[in-house]
Amino acid sequence: MEELVSLCKRRGFIFQGSEIYGGLQGFYDYGPLGVELKNNIKAAWWRSNVYERDDMEGLDASIIMHRQVLRHSGHEATFSDPMIDNRKNNKRYRLDHLVKDQKADVIAKVAAAMGESAENFPAVVAALNANPAQASQALKDAGVRDPFSGEVGDWTEPKPFNMMFKTTIGPVADDESYGYLRPETAQGIFTNFKNVVDSTSRRLPFGIAQIGKAFRNEITPRNFIFRVRELEQMEIEFFCTPGTDEEWHEHWLEKRLSWWEAQGVPRSKIEILDVPKEDLAHYSKRTYDLMYDYPTLGHEEIEGIANRSDYDLGSHTKNQSELGLVANVEENLDSIAKLTIPHPETNKPVVPFVIEPSAGVDRALLAVLSEAFTKETLENGNERIVLKLRPHLAPIKVAVIPLARNKAELVELARSIKNDLQKLGLGRILLEDSGNIGKAYRRHDEVGTPYCVTVDFDTVGKGDDATLTDTVTVRDRDTLAQERVKISELTAYLQAKLK
Ligand code: ATP
Repeated sequence: MEELVSLCKRRGFIFQGSEIYGGLQGFYDYGPLGVELKNNIKAAWWRSNVYERDDMEGLDASIIMHRQVLRHSGHEATFSDPMIDNRKNNKRYRLDHLVKDQKADVIAKVAAAMGESAENFPAVVAALNANPAQASQALKDAGVRDPFSGEVGDWTEPKPFNMMFKTTIGPVADDESYGYLRPETAQGIFTNFKNVVDSTSRRLPFGIAQIGKAFRNEITPRNFIFRVRELEQMEIEFFCTPGTDEEWHEHWLEKRLSWWEAQGVPRSKIEILDVPKEDLAHYSKRTYDLMYDYPTLGHEEIEGIANRSDYDLGSHTKNQSELGLVANVEENLDSIAKLTIPHPETNKPVVPFVIEPSAGVDRALLAVLSEAFTKETLENGNERIVLKLRPHLAPIKVAVIPLARNKAELVELARSIKNDLQKLGLGRILLEDSGNIGKAYRRHDEVGTPYCVTVDFDTVGKGDDATLTDTVTVRDRDTLAQERVKISELTAYLQAKLK
């Protein structure tokens, strides 16, 4: 992981946010190559989930939302993590992270004090949350250490911390003028359900897909881009007839696993966690968490696929009592819309069930990079670092390199080849005229460029071998094979390789 983080900075994938002022914890900026990789991941997701299906619509809803949305969604009341303070140094931690990071014998002592088994960590956390006074004592007695100072802490009682970012809307700041930055993109889909149905005439089953930023004021952002405060999500809300939800849930689990595989994240590295009933979020009938085996971190959630029953539309609709809702929803007297759709068989209005595959773009990018990061020892004993990214994800598809940067003839031909390749719409093609061919190859291995095209003296008929005039060298990132290809055949050659 450390090597990957260093490569990300060195080669321009990811920088610390607000770095020149000392950085801002939990915020990262995507650099020249990071933005390309991120866009390519999002495009692959959109292609697979919107364009290649006949039952999906797209959406781009606003980030700041009416406080009523986040109130009726349940976020105001429940979107919180347990927080605990160390009185000795006034540092603040997320309770479950704090305990999880202790030595095994300390965790065992905490678990025993709470009457739980250390094997069942979620149950330990639930017991700590439910009994704050006992929790504070248990942590002190077990000798839970402060991760910052390394000393045993003097722990307060844990209390919930709401993770939503609140902001003032308009020039007057009063009790009525605040809104929230959305903590998930999902709510924009639910609030636009009626608009999408009315404007597209969709019938069940169908889905709405959205990619966008979400904001969570994480107590302890950490692990590079794994846990950040400004994140990006790729979410689908798939609406189906009650009774067909379990089948659709399985469908989406399968679909999503095969999508990850196509991005170079194999199934063998993803554990499917069928979340135990007692750990399910209040809205969920059943949830599969896809736990990817991140280097250093181990198995952590990369995507959640939840069966949310009729909770969301049921929470945001008016006339709740007339709709035969299954989910336990809070009363809503604020909504002005009835969020129903005709049942496909009876034509009676029904609140559909929702299957939600929700993946994080940042966590996807970290997984894709982790899988691609490879160190190889070459025949000559040298080591090379290479990012074996799938070509459709590579930030730069082809680098066109003039062998000498001070020879105008070579540079001009390279530029014209670059311009022709760029027109194919494959993604970014780079004119690499830094001069040193060996360095250029190393750099493009490290950033995952699948092909380098070199224009040399033979290409322009000024080398030793006249038969090579009007040909270029194409170097393959993975095999290191170099092939001479006619310039006239180059676009077709690369188009076939990169499709
Ligand atoms: P965790 O348990 O790790 O905090 P979560 O269960 O809160 O995650 P969800 O609410 O299910 O996560 O969000 C859906 C997806 O959004 C996650 O699978 C993850 O990929 C991404 N995500 C959530 N929180 C963050 C974060 N703080 N930083 C980066 N990605 C995140």
